[in-house]
Amino acid sequence: MAVIGAGLAGLEVTRALSQRGLSVLLVDRKADIARHVHTTGIFVRKTLEDFAIPDFCLGEAVKHVNLYSPARQVLALSSPHDEFRVGRMGKLYGHLLEQGLNAGAVFSNATHLRGISKSSRGSVLHLERHGQSMPTQARFVIGADGAVSKVAQELRLEQNKEFIIGVEDVLEGVPLVGEPCFHVYIEPKLAPGYIAWVVHDGEHVHLGTGGYAAQFDAAQALEVFRASVSTQFDFSKAKRLERRGGRIPVGGVLKNIVHSRGLLLGDAAGAVSPLTAGGLDPAIRLANFAAHILERHLGGDATALETYNGSAWRTRFTSRLWMRRLLSSVTQPQLLELGFAALKLEPFKSVAWHVFFGRGGSFPELEPKTNLAIAHQRS
Ligand SMILES: Cc1cc2nc3c(=O)[nH]c(=O)nc-3n(C[C@H](O)[C@H](O)[C@H](O)COP(=O)(O)OP(=O)(O)OC[C@H]3O[C@@H](n4cnc5c(N)ncnc54)[C@H](O)[C@@H]3O)c2cc1C
Repeated sequence: MAVIGAGLAGLEVTRALSQRGLSVLLVDRKADIARHVHTTGIFVRKTLEDFAIPDFCLGEAVKHVNLYSPARQVLALSSPHDEFRVGRMGKLYGHLLEQGLNAGAVFSNATHLRGISKSSRGSVLHLERHGQSMPTQARFVIGADGAVSKVAQELRLEQNKEFIIGVEDVLEGVPLVGEPCFHVYIEPKLAPGYIAWVVHDGEHVHLGTGGYAAQFDAAQALEVFRASVSTQFDFSKAKRLERRGGRIPVGGVLKNIVHSRGLLLGDAAGAVSPLTAGGLDPAIRLANFAAHILERHLGGDATALETYNGSAWRTRFTSRLWMRRLLSSVTQPQLLELGFAALKLEPFKSVAWHVFFGRGGSFPELEPKTNLAIAHQRS
């Protein structure tokens, strides 16, 4: 079994498969998986409850969301629960990799997948490491290689077509005033079709913006956005630790994501909420589901792969796809202000509350025991 991509989806499926006793080769083009992380890393309560991610991989809990209109009216939403925690993604990736390696997985870093051809025993992966070609046999290939998937292309599975791009700075030295809060800004110019955000997790500040690439210059928008919130946050001693960014597929989970020689996971499968652009919960959930059905498939269950069904999951995203289309089409500041004023009134306020704090599921729920796979491995 080969897994292409050591992001959250690939690392989690490698851990889950190898702990089931299956032989796994994990491959990533990065030399160091803890570097060039492209996600803010906000985990929602549902993920934190279902998967016990170790504490040392998480920032402080966030219970509050402040939502801002373009004119900077504020809607403050609070929850009695710990709703979000920002992952220390480098540490989490290292932790999951270690678990996979301890269970027998093999990891090849700095290794690029260049192509896949069919063979009598499954597939030959055309891998390349430091300019050296390394053809490798695999009975089954898992494409966890992100939003623009080479595995999808090579296995003629479906590919993502609709993206937004996100860019953010991770800063240290910004004082936290009050409790940790997720600040969300509706900014049609600086974040067309999405949002800009500031989240302070008690240690670091993530300041970012996202939107449709054709409608803005993301790096420039980030600078303007930072200046626009500089009266709200004290950046006088801020030091930039990293700039992160990348494409986020927002067209909904793809229909055609599995066949007899391989399947897609995480961003490669379009498994991202079209509305919130959150992909960490779907990545971890699908990885566990895939491990579960692959164990059955390799054990001889001829129907197991049929349950990995993108078409069925896609129907659960319909309302979020429509909300994405609606929100991205409203660009008039006056209309947005009117809509925002309505959000302060019931029942719209409850809708906003549910968008941020709701526990709506879109992906397969596994048996709690399987879902808690990480918990059992907590170090
Ligand atoms: C700026 C930004 C902020 C975000 N913030 C959040 C957030 O706060 N919360 C949330 O839930 N979601 C967030 N998302 C979305 C979320 O990060 C992704 O959905 C999630 O990280 C996808 O994980 P993945 O493992 O599927 O893919 P990735 O993390 O993209 O991993 C893919 C891996 O495959 C490797 N790879 C690709 N091609 C090849 C190849 N040919 N050969 C070898 N290796 C290859 C890459 O090096 C990479 O390591 C954000 C996205 C962005 C861009």
